Amino acid sequence: MAAEKLFWQDPYRTESRARVTSVNQEVITLDRTIFYASSGGQDSDCGTIGGYSVASAKKEGLEIFYTIEGPHALSQGDETVVAIDWERRYRLMRLHFAAEIVLELVYRHFDHPLKIGANIHQDKARIDFAWDGNISRIFPLIEQEAGRLIEADLPIRSEFSHREQERRYWEIEGFAKVSCGGTHLRSTGEVGAITLRRKNIGRDKERIEISLAGE
Ligand SMILES: [Zn+2]
Repeated sequence: MAAEKLFWQDPYRTESRARVTSVNQEVITLDRTIFYASSGGQDSDCGTIGGYSVASAKKEGLEIFYTIEGPHALSQGDETVVAIDWERRYRLMRLHFAAEIVLELVYRHFDHPLKIGANIHQDKARIDFAWDGNISRIFPLIEQEAGRLIEADLPIRSEFSHREQERRYWEIEGFAKVSCGGTHLRSTGEVGAITLRRKNIGRDKERIEISLAGE
């Protein structure tokens, strides 16, 4: 059975106990985990399992495979402690939700342009669109509306749309309901002020870069 995803039940949890369910050299699996593995454009967490640094976390199907850095003494059945770098995770959560809001607003106001890429790193998020012209022209509207949503500190509900297949969504009542398996904030106010930047990334391809204000 795949690891229980505690990072969905409680995305604010920074440490938890877990049992090692398999060991294949440096690659291990757990019965439950707070340690997010890159998917949906959100980067993996950084942290430790049993005190050992995790070099990478990879999601395959519903399972998450953790590669431990260097030699380790973990065995199948061991009770262990998983800890994540919370500062990094919280930045990822704030930038992730900033990107969710910006994407929804672009879809809504500009006739659902084609999204051709997206990524959430700890320093900034980016969303790429097939877009004719300079996308910074829409920034005043997007910044104003995003600012309003963030200031209103609206509750964000995150739930399963399909529990067995582990499909998730987030919802803000009166704004949007969106499929996403990332880790989401409790409310929009936690995003804080954001800054948008434009980058042209090729012919008819425009990028919106999102960073937390003041950085
Ligand atoms: Zn999301």
